[in-house]
Amino acid sequence: ANPIRIGVVGYGNLGRGVENAVAKNPDMVVAGIYTRRDPGQLQPLFAGTPVFSVADLHQHADRVDVLVLCGGSKDDLPVQSPELAAKFCMVDSFDTHARIPEHFAAVDAAAQAGKTTALISAGWDPGMFSINRVMGEALLPDGATYTFWGKGLSQGHSDAIRRIPGVAGGVQYTIPVEAAVDAVRSGVRPALTTRQKHERHCYVVLAEGADAQAVHKTIVQMPHYFDEYDTTVNFITQQELKDNHSAMPHGGFVIRSGNTSAQNKQVIEYRLQLESNPEFTSSVLVAYARAVHRMHQWGMTGAKTVFDVAPGWLSAKSPEQLRKDAL
Ligand code: NDP
Repeated sequence: ANPIRIGVVGYGNLGRGVENAVAKNPDMVVAGIYTRRDPGQLQPLFAGTPVFSVADLHQHADRVDVLVLCGGSKDDLPVQSPELAAKFCMVDSFDTHARIPEHFAAVDAAAQAGKTTALISAGWDPGMFSINRVMGEALLPDGATYTFWGKGLSQGHSDAIRRIPGVAGGVQYTIPVEAAVDAVRSGVRPALTTRQKHERHCYVVLAEGADAQAVHKTIVQMPHYFDEYDTTVNFITQQELKDNHSAMPHGGFVIRSGNTSAQNKQVIEYRLQLESNPEFTSSVLVAYARAVHRMHQWGMTGAKTVFDVAPGWLSAKSPEQLRKDAL
């Protein structure tokens, strides 16, 4: 069979992750990276990967099977996903949870009109965690679902710290509170407040002459971001930031705890421990690109989510092979 030709739209952390992930899947190739920047200035990970301007995409409809959109959820995907779904099969990782319904509607209208298959909000959260939340609820209707994140670097919270006057650099890690995780795992279904579930740990480089106490206070009192959490602030040097905080780890757990009878508790746990959030997210996107390619060949058009994809469609193996190997 011909390899599935993947177009990578946007070349940041996820874009590089997709290039890496495709290299691990022999049934796929990267047909091209498509960027809004000058393609001549981008250095792909692998010398053979062609780089084009995103403006060239419209002439490349016969060179690409599925686009993997790697733009940001805030400003890029709300524009790019509906625009490209009109002409191309695609997968995105849109993760602004509250806006998923409107994003779905916009992409669905474009995909229905263009008879393409467009899967939104793949990745791990939303994505793999969402699947596990749905399965937990379906299998244990008398129960409670808990999602814990971390230890992980939060891009949004790190950005919020860096915007504070007097801060020259910094990162924020979200860390699940161990006592809360233990209580949930025991099956007692505790009611937990925001503060009881996660802590926030900040590593901050001060600008010259900045007042450490004032920066500390601004961070821990920042509404929405930090005020509802127990937050610790550690001041470090620029060198320490570079040496110890350049990776993008993340992960967490989805736990469903329920009762199937008065006497029997059941606990389901799905856990991710990721050294690189973008590389893992991209690996998920690429598996969903395979499913999208199949779904389009079967005439399943319109917008889709991870809930609409059967697990076997993600696999490079045939249904026969999967029944032998994995059942
Ligand atoms: P980046 O900021 O690295 O990249 C976003 C876009 O910005 C790129 O597609 C690229 O577009 C442009 N860009 C990248 N680097 C530069 C640069 N140096 N200068 C100028 N422009 C640049 O974002 P990520 O790849 O880290 O993440 C993308 C989105 O993925 C996030 O917004 C998040 O919402 C989502 N995500 C979802 C997850 C999930 O589980 N569902 C998990 C992790 C992330 P271009 O090449 O066209 O310029």
